[in-house]
Amino acid sequence: MADGSPLPPSGPLVDRFGRQVTYLRLSVTDRCDLRCSYCMAERMTFLPKADLLTLEELDAVATAFIDRGVRKIRITGGEPLVRRDVIQLFQTIGQRLGHGLDELTLTTNGTLLAEHAQALYDAGVRRVNVSLDSIDAVTFKSITRRGRLETVLNGIQTALTVGLKVKINTVALKYDNANELPELIAWAHGLGMDLTLIEVMPLGETGEDRVDQYIPLPMIRDRLEQRWTLTDLPKTDMTAGPSSYARVSETGGRIGFITPLTNNFCAGCNRVRMTCTGRIYMCLGQDDHVDLGAALRAGKNSRANLNHALDQALFAKPEKHDFKIGPQANSADLTRHMSTTGG
Ligand code: SAM
Repeated sequence: MADGSPLPPSGPLVDRFGRQVTYLRLSVTDRCDLRCSYCMAERMTFLPKADLLTLEELDAVATAFIDRGVRKIRITGGEPLVRRDVIQLFQTIGQRLGHGLDELTLTTNGTLLAEHAQALYDAGVRRVNVSLDSIDAVTFKSITRRGRLETVLNGIQTALTVGLKVKINTVALKYDNANELPELIAWAHGLGMDLTLIEVMPLGETGEDRVDQYIPLPMIRDRLEQRWTLTDLPKTDMTAGPSSYARVSETGGRIGFITPLTNNFCAGCNRVRMTCTGRIYMCLGQDDHVDLGAALRAGKNSRANLNHALDQALFAKPEKHDFKIGPQANSADLTRHMSTTGG
């Protein structure tokens, strides 16, 4: 940290429900080069670049979290790889690997992965999540409203070639990709990649009706079981998190299911998210947040202020989210897009 003062005494980040936060999702930008129809509106107004935390500030935040027991950091956005010089951040945070930090990873749409895969590996990244909702070029373009499938497939291939382990994340969409999911899963498993299915969440205005997008994952699973044999897997350290996993006997691969609507999994929540402007959101599905920006810029006492803000954030971590889509939805649906909070 810039002020060089000794770290004030501070313990692990444990919330009021006894859950320890060991996982930080750090957003580095709200911008994205795609406009996925369930994620963003076609026309988005992004933050002025001057509002974003600098790379040094992001690194200071990462350090503060690691010093308080965070062992895994996922860089996200928006699309993290569209931020200029973001590789520098991977390089600086990467130096903490083996010194408090167990894993540095990212979630990306893959469009710039071919360009950055080797540098990410060199910075210490070993696993990456690539969000991909279709391997049909026309469907892909329609969901992303502008993307080229070939670019993403090339990025995935490069990532695999340099030695990164790739997991595919797929949002299940009632009309756009539900029928294609077996093909997508078979393709991922054929390349040795796990694939996690995610229920669409009511986050932000996208210009589309959520009711036309949402399909419950238990329904998808039923359909998959008509074709394949799925065996539930116990949670391990590698699969800890909101996913429950099943092995597909016929492909040998794993499918993850993230069910924020049909099955609440908050009891074991070990994560917080920070936006690219320094707001900590303790829950994706709630609006409570603490602003770290001021603490970061407080100069002489910035470490103490940062730790104080982290304590405040932890105290305010809510017990759970409560998403609803359809007739039971309430008007309090979150106006914040996933790309703002950091996916
Ligand atoms: N650009 C990166 C990417 O594509 O992975 C990181 C940010 S993106 C917001 C993170 C993840 O959130 C993606 O897997 C995306 O599909 C998912 N996502 C975005 N909006 C969502 C929503 N409303 N419900 C469920 N998942 C959503």
